[in-house]
Amino acid sequence: MIARINSATNVGFSGRIIEVECDASNGLPTLLIVGLGNKSIEEAKERVRSAIKNSSLEFPRKRITINLAPANLPKDGAHFDLPIALSLLCVSKQLNQKDFDGTLVVGELSLDGSLRPVRGIIGHVETAQRAGMKTIIVPVQNSQQAALIEGINIVGAKSLHEVYLYLKKEVIIPPQVLTTLQPSRYIQTGQSTLDDIYGQERAKRALIIAAAGHHNILFNGPPGAGKTMLAKALLSILPPLSQEEMIEVTKLHSLSGESDETIISHRPFRSPHHNASQNSLVGGGRHPRPGEISLAHRGVLFLDELPEYGRMAIESLRQPLEDGIITIARTDMHVSYPADFMLVATQNPCPCGYATDDTHECTCSAHQIIQYQKKISGPLLDRIDLVLEISRVEHKKLLKDNAKQRSFEQQILDARRQQAKRYKSTTKTNSNATNNDIKTRVQLSPTAKTLLDTAASRLNLSARSYFKIIKVSRTIADLEESVDIHPNHMSEALQYRYRQF
Ligand SMILES: [Zn+2]
Repeated sequence: MIARINSATNVGFSGRIIEVECDASNGLPTLLIVGLGNKSIEEAKERVRSAIKNSSLEFPRKRITINLAPANLPKDGAHFDLPIALSLLCVSKQLNQKDFDGTLVVGELSLDGSLRPVRGIIGHVETAQRAGMKTIIVPVQNSQQAALIEGINIVGAKSLHEVYLYLKKEVIIPPQVLTTLQPSRYIQTGQSTLDDIYGQERAKRALIIAAAGHHNILFNGPPGAGKTMLAKALLSILPPLSQEEMIEVTKLHSLSGESDETIISHRPFRSPHHNASQNSLVGGGRHPRPGEISLAHRGVLFLDELPEYGRMAIESLRQPLEDGIITIARTDMHVSYPADFMLVATQNPCPCGYATDDTHECTCSAHQIIQYQKKISGPLLDRIDLVLEISRVEHKKLLKDNAKQRSFEQQILDARRQQAKRYKSTTKTNSNATNNDIKTRVQLSPTAKTLLDTAASRLNLSARSYFKIIKVSRTIADLEESVDIHPNHMSEALQYRYRQF
């Protein structure tokens, strides 16, 4: 007799149904697992054996073969433990095959038979739901995240024994319901907001424009100018995540193994170190996982001192900045993860940092300065809409005491709404609008167009920069709820272009 239990595997951001087939025949008692599993699947044998024995159930003394089908798809993870254990109970008639109709199962087992949470649960639930399953059995710790997906029963169990009793209909596990989600603007309490920052009016203005139009931004200035604090304050003015975005963000964090149990309700802020490998930055590895750029999806990727990052790492940001998605090529497959983040980068004007500072002497040679600035390639700068020179503010002045909320949060929300209307899409913004969108949907007043054309020929602007300036000026006009782009919007946008110095 052959038992068949449905499970699933994540392939990048999507997933596939995996059928766990179990065959038992007479012969020397052995357990063989086939079907391109990795080491943790090989080790499932020992966990499953102990878990079954420690759950007062019987491990069949037969010659057993387990196949994870389809066999040509590489599989990773300990979440096949539970379906494997259940297939053994099924093949030894402790459970019935028909108990599993319309049911998908995932879960890692401890030696004592209790269930442990698994990585990427949301992907498994989506796969089950797409395949028309009625119920998914998951470890109880995963059940909050799992309940984000509607239209399928989520059964959260604590142990193999509990799953056994549930399938025998001897206990009832009520389906998990989603607790109400409250989107939040903050990662933690005490996080500084834009209002907490003293001075730096131009930088704050640029952040408001960046938040309104989803523009990438580069701060150029000496150390101690409060660049990090400014970048973090950006989170406090970005619109809250929608329900759909919360699911995406939580799913990515769950796929990476960073969060199996909680729902992420705020926009993420990621600040990988200069030494971060390309794999950890963009994702990858033998069994690919999302990298920092995907963990920053719908939030902020903060790269402090951009020229310090490796050239390969910087170059690898180009595709995701263009497409909002990263594709990782492996020898056996391609996987993709969303990576639609706002890039906030900083750079010092020179290696020592003081080339533009009045209070410190710069110790770098002209050659060093040129080499340093060349580290950021033109194509990456092309993806940055706003560039801002900032100077130092006395440190103790940087945080002011009594902050009051101003109305720019509302301005930003309204500006986003106008963009959604203009481009007829909730994910399109001025920043990622195509040139064709700009040509057909964006109006420049005749005087603004003259101003831009004059600047373009005088400054020798590339076609790309030309469109970038229109996009930024559109956001500035949106913040004022202006239908057309006027010369004052245009001249402010022109200030934020990249300049060599
Ligand atoms: Zn210097």
